[in-house]
Amino acid sequence: MAGEPQDDCLFCKIVAGTIPATIVRETDTTVAFRDINPQAPTHVLVIPKAHYPDAAALAAAAPQIAADVLRETQAVADEDKLESYRVVFNKGPGAGQTVWHTHAHVLGGRGMEWPPG
Ligand code: 5GP
Ligand code: ZN
Repeated sequence: MAGEPQDDCLFCKIVAGTIPATIVRETDTTVAFRDINPQAPTHVLVIPKAHYPDAAALAAAAPQIAADVLRETQAVADEDKLESYRVVFNKGPGAGQTVWHTHAHVLGGRGMEWPPG
């Protein structure tokens, strides 16, 4: 069923607590934890607790939870005192998506270039 935990999903296991992560924030619907391979001084992933494969699927099926994820990106930035930061949702292998559970990358603490690579 849409949104149900998936046995083979790394981020569902982080939500369940069976794989450890450095959790920085948690709400009823979301978890935020530090990326294991940080690309900036702040690199936090904000995920819905429910399993959806990407941001578009989440927004279509559970728009309130999509809004919760976005609100949490600001809360993460506030906790790390970031005035400027970047939020990235990779969708599909060509864009670099490697984990098929919706996640917002919150990146900050250094200068950012545009366009991204
Ligand atoms: P994607 O490439 O799908 O947009 O992002 C997946 C992110 O998950 C990558 O930045 C990667 O470093 C991170 N990641 C992969 N495995 C783990 C893990 O076990 N723990 C944590 N904290 N992050 C992970
Ligand atoms: Zn999942």
